[in-house]
Amino acid sequence: MQQIENYILSCMPKLGVNKLRELVRLVYEIQKRDRISLPEILPFEKNLSFETAKKQLLQKRYPVNFKTTARDRFYLPKLDLDPSLKADLTPRPFYPHTIYIETGAEQMPLTQRVRQRFPKATFLEWDGKMQVGEKNFSRRLETLVIHREKYDFLKPCPCSCAAACCGYNLINLGFGCRFECEYCFLQQYQNLHAVLLPANVEEFLQKIDHVAFRKGPFDRPRIGSGEFTDSLVFDDLTHYSEMLVPFFRQRPHLQFEFKTKSTQVEELLKIGGQKNIVISWSVNSEYITKNAEHFTPPLAARLHSACEVAKAGYRLGFHFDPVIIYEGYQEDYARTVEHMADVLPQDKIAWISVGTLRFSRELKKMMETRFPDNTLLNGEFLLDFDGKMRYSDIQRLEVYRFLIPLLRKTFPKAYVYLCMEDPVIVQKIH
Ligand code: SF4
Repeated sequence: MQQIENYILSCMPKLGVNKLRELVRLVYEIQKRDRISLPEILPFEKNLSFETAKKQLLQKRYPVNFKTTARDRFYLPKLDLDPSLKADLTPRPFYPHTIYIETGAEQMPLTQRVRQRFPKATFLEWDGKMQVGEKNFSRRLETLVIHREKYDFLKPCPCSCAAACCGYNLINLGFGCRFECEYCFLQQYQNLHAVLLPANVEEFLQKIDHVAFRKGPFDRPRIGSGEFTDSLVFDDLTHYSEMLVPFFRQRPHLQFEFKTKSTQVEELLKIGGQKNIVISWSVNSEYITKNAEHFTPPLAARLHSACEVAKAGYRLGFHFDPVIIYEGYQEDYARTVEHMADVLPQDKIAWISVGTLRFSRELKKMMETRFPDNTLLNGEFLLDFDGKMRYSDIQRLEVYRFLIPLLRKTFPKAYVYLCMEDPVIVQKIH
């Protein structure tokens, strides 16, 4: 970064702090994407002005959208890469060294299982308030908290207020995940530096019978887990599915969805499925799975698990989310669709959603700090209608006009829909 700053100042010695900050950001992003030298990015010119330099750099950084985009939609924050926060991508088993048990949860079955699973860990009592763990997202797996959820168990899906709503409802099965997806919002959102798992899910399930749920465009309300964690990634430990499946089996007027990237389906297979219980996998192109969804099973393994649970009586869901634009992305995503069509039982697929990569401004900074070699952020992201960053309307429409008809043609019985999208875009696609 210092090298970039020095070079820009050699071209424009009198540049103020804020102007320098914007140009450093643009040059950094171009260099990261194109791997070219500084003089190639910003050729030296006598008497080069800030306005001319910024225009040249914006044109290079946003070749697709520069001409059609208002200047205030290009987000150019200070570049602030902290190497101490870089993600640790060394594979290791999940074995927390410190485990906090909230007062009142000591005798619960999950606590007992955790004690048996991690006998070498240090167990401490937790009052429900004390900050725990190291203030570094990459070290969250070292600390586990077993708690008694009191309030935040059930809520409507908090999709952007201006996005088209699909009426989803969420139950909270904990916080934290052992995968490392480069785009995961938890790395910016999670303020407890640990994995948090509720021990009293059964207590809360009883409340579901008294709730009037939204159902959106679906025939029955959909309730899901998997917002603040992957629904099944800890299921071998939590056995939440053992409680959830029988509970929802008795409530056919509701549909329950587990959302996962894992292959942790043993508990589900033991219990046996039901039509109103949908096991959904997040799927992507092989390139993105391999390079940006660290520690997750490959597509073939996810699809194998999907076939297993379908045989056991569950229905299936798939989420092409987030779709990421890169050179050759259409061929890669078409291959994923083809692979799915080759192995999956068509009549078991309930729904497929599609959404392009979007993130908050804060998450952008966290992604580039934790994954400095990422390729996800090489795309042209603009500030959008709800304050999030997205590809431009033109680029998102290109994705949807390619993928939605392909999915509808390949899986004619599945409900295919857009997730967290601008209603205007949704109108154009339907
Ligand atoms: S699987 Fe989901 S929760 Fe886990 S890291 Fe990836 S995006 Fe985050």
